[in-house]
Amino acid sequence: MWQTMGQERAVAALQRALAGGRRAHAYLLAGPPQVGKATLARELAQALNCDGTEPPCHECTPCRRIAAGIHADVQTVTVEASGDGAVHKDISIDQIREIGRSVSLRPFEGRCRVIIIDPADAMNEAAQNAFLKTLEEPPPDVVFLLVTARPQLLRATVRSRCQRLDLRPLPVAAAARALVERWGLPEQRAEVLARLSRGRLGWALAAQADEEMMRARREALMDIRNLAQRSLAERFARANDLAGRFGRQREAVLEVLDLWGQWWRDVLLAAAGCQEAITNVDLADILRAEAGRYDARQVASFLRSLAAARRRLEENVNPRLALEVLLLDLPAPR
Ligand SMILES: [Zn+2]
Repeated sequence: MWQTMGQERAVAALQRALAGGRRAHAYLLAGPPQVGKATLARELAQALNCDGTEPPCHECTPCRRIAAGIHADVQTVTVEASGDGAVHKDISIDQIREIGRSVSLRPFEGRCRVIIIDPADAMNEAAQNAFLKTLEEPPPDVVFLLVTARPQLLRATVRSRCQRLDLRPLPVAAAARALVERWGLPEQRAEVLARLSRGRLGWALAAQADEEMMRARREALMDIRNLAQRSLAERFARANDLAGRFGRQREAVLEVLDLWGQWWRDVLLAAAGCQEAITNVDLADILRAEAGRYDARQVASFLRSLAAARRRLEENVNPRLALEVLLLDLPAPR
């Protein structure tokens, strides 16, 4: 019984493969952040080692040990924190070589060794090359699961050796229903979280569990609102600050840009009277007031600049320049 919600296509593909004994040596689990990739990776590891009649049963010893993260044959490779507390940027070639050595051993306690690489796009060039060597001669009884929100950053030769599974956000209504039926959230709360998460259940559940996350989000949105009224010098200082962070916390900076996009799209929707389509429903009153202060064409133009800036950042073009150009394009209040 698979518990990953809303990813029927990916789950059905895996069920067919496992039932027919045709599992791949490597899967690429691709999709936006907090959409269920890590959950599906864990469930696949369970299904491959489950002792129950309908894997993954979630009740047998292997399923439980994998859920608890203590199964000897299921290993996650990620960006490591070093001894001094600093976080490395990459998954290194040494980490991948270590994996290459360990997978030549038989499984310790289960039937199948599962190596989860998350985020797989954090493998640097050398690490990807080393990984490719392992994939070219896949050891028996080993399945690699590459988890990533940005599959385009993986080398084509790596991608082509993996079976790709695309995970997508749920429709908002389906996400809200799941939050009520499976996690017992009150309907109104479920509705707001489903909308804010844009159908990413992982995000909705994290926000439900962590009041601080919602508070920080609201603060970030108010900051976006205020930024449009700041002086050029202040905006450039912000661009500089974000560009500096981009080297170390790429995902966090891209999330900030996503939030900007969300806010200004909502301003545009509020201006057009499309209340039911706005994402930040809990801030609808503020959005309506803001909508009256900006020229819709300027807002639309900023949203295009935002998409362009995002592309430039993905392509690793000078981040400071990309962000400065973007902040010059902020709409001006009337
Ligand atoms: Zn089981």
